[in-house]
Amino acid sequence: MLDKRTQLIHHARANTVAALQDMQRWGVEALHFNSHTPEALPLCSSLDPVTAATTACRTETLEDIRADMGECQRCALGRTRTQLVFGGGNPKASLVFVGEGPGQREDEQGEPFVGEAGLLLNRILFAMGLERKDVYICNVIKCRPPQNRNPEADEIAACEPFLKRQLDAINPEVLVALGKFAAQTLLQDKTPISKLRGEWRSYNDIDLMPTFHPAYLLRNPVHKRELWQDMKQVMQRLQR
Ligand code: SF4
Repeated sequence: MLDKRTQLIHHARANTVAALQDMQRWGVEALHFNSHTPEALPLCSSLDPVTAATTACRTETLEDIRADMGECQRCALGRTRTQLVFGGGNPKASLVFVGEGPGQREDEQGEPFVGEAGLLLNRILFAMGLERKDVYICNVIKCRPPQNRNPEADEIAACEPFLKRQLDAINPEVLVALGKFAAQTLLQDKTPISKLRGEWRSYNDIDLMPTFHPAYLLRNPVHKRELWQDMKQVMQRLQR
């Protein structure tokens, strides 16, 4: 005599077999299961816009972007860097800081803002009631230019698409452009940073606050007060 549980299993199995035999008679050749595992979905960016609008798909993650970059050689800086500095921090951050590019320490360690300027950025974050793990920090250029020279236009053109994709993946509320180079590059505006700073702008529909680079403030500490005014605006906007 079968127990109740075994009887139920046999009953369910018989029903399943009967259902499959029915489907086979109807000409069903394959069963398609809806996967609820997000990683199993195709990237929306890999589909044409019409298909992407009607199909379950996912936006790419920072890991996808980093994997796509690989040992990037899309511009000449790939040949001279020690390692690519992708960026780091909270992948869901409301606030993203964008600097110019890696310096020597960053090139050696593979992390953004780890030198003296990075320590000052840490102190700025602390004054804002934040830690590095709360925000995301990256650069326009992911590889160190030799002798810390300014990046060339073709190097920016090759690398900036990765920044755009990073920002799409993070979807922050506010972006802070640190320094002249980041602000002028992101805004396509050659106005001096002393005039750009402190005024809200927009980058790909993200609120952008240009301000001084921490490295510049180490050389010109008199401007720290202006940076703090800019950061107060950032905090207010994040609290809205
Ligand atoms: S700077 Fe950017 S585009 Fe150039 S090699 Fe590095 S990651 Fe690639």
